[in-house]
Amino acid sequence: MSKKFEYRRALVTGGAGFIGSHLCRRLLKEGLEVVVLDDLSTGRIENVPSSDCELIQGDIRDPLVVARSLDGVDIVFHNAARVSVRASNDQFVDDAQTNVMGTLILLKSITQAKVKKLVLASSMAVYADCQTAEPIDEDYHCKPLSPYGTGKLAMERYALQICAAHGIDVVPLRYFNTYGPGQSFTPYVGVVTIFATQLLQGIAPTIFGDGAQTRDFVSVHDIVRGNLGAMHASVTGKVFNLGSGVGTTVRDIANLLVEKINPELKPRYAPSQLGETKNSIANIANAVKYLHYQPQSNFRDDVGEIISGIRAKLCVADRQP
Ligand code: NAD
Repeated sequence: MSKKFEYRRALVTGGAGFIGSHLCRRLLKEGLEVVVLDDLSTGRIENVPSSDCELIQGDIRDPLVVARSLDGVDIVFHNAARVSVRASNDQFVDDAQTNVMGTLILLKSITQAKVKKLVLASSMAVYADCQTAEPIDEDYHCKPLSPYGTGKLAMERYALQICAAHGIDVVPLRYFNTYGPGQSFTPYVGVVTIFATQLLQGIAPTIFGDGAQTRDFVSVHDIVRGNLGAMHASVTGKVFNLGSGVGTTVRDIANLLVEKINPELKPRYAPSQLGETKNSIANIANAVKYLHYQPQSNFRDDVGEIISGIRAKLCVADRQP
């Protein structure tokens, strides 16, 4: 347990990215001052609500920039990362430099600043392979299948240890497959965005493996709710899953998007990818109990909005010279 505290100024690392930018908007609504630290490597300047947020464009591995961004900050939401399981198989040095060393540099600065709480974006990628489609809780075996997952687990453990030693509250959150408006298209991250973008471009989606693998698709709005829960809860040193608690097969997701976008483009199949788990469904009982987390979205209801958001983005991109 930790003491309840009214936070006034938040630093959101990675605040120009998909999840970070949604979080910034919500923190502003809650009345906090918000500083964003982002190197804009995958994030975009237009994601940052610029008139209300202070944007510091810089690298979390730069101790001077990090120290400057922590000025007056009492809570940090650390979301900056290289976010690709697949890319981490080849680019494991770059992955660790940002996700592990970047976090350590941030931790060093936090211990020298006036930060009271750190809320950390971890991932379901820390878990061992799961052969059954059952929800897993936070005590499930941690044996990451990818360098990305190894880095996220290391980052969690460093944060728990260092924050405890310095009396700083810390709440690592293991996000599951997050979908929602504003996710940038890359061939590696976010199966929903990848499939929907490809289908809108007239390309049949490629399913890696047999498509029977399950994932827990959680709305970015619920992930933000979980972060707010972590901010308000009197809790420290405990790790939480943030998902929807519901499993869906990748094949079902592909078929649903095909049906909604272009029924002629049937999914194609390719060999499974290194580092990807068979099943990944969150048991969210601890987040419900301790963070008062209640997911409110579900993928089937949101699919229309997701498709129109991606369609609008593609139209803008087409119009650009
Ligand atoms: P994103 O790529 O949209 O956001 C990451 C942000 O970090 C980007 O704005 C990028 O520019 C910034 N960044 C990267 N390296 C940086 C550096 N060295 N210095 C400063 N900024 C840097 O990805 P996202 O999906 O919004 O992910 C946010 C967090 O959530 C990440 O920590 C990710 O590992 C975690 N996560 C995401 C998912 C998901 O499904 N999207 C699932 C599990 C965990």
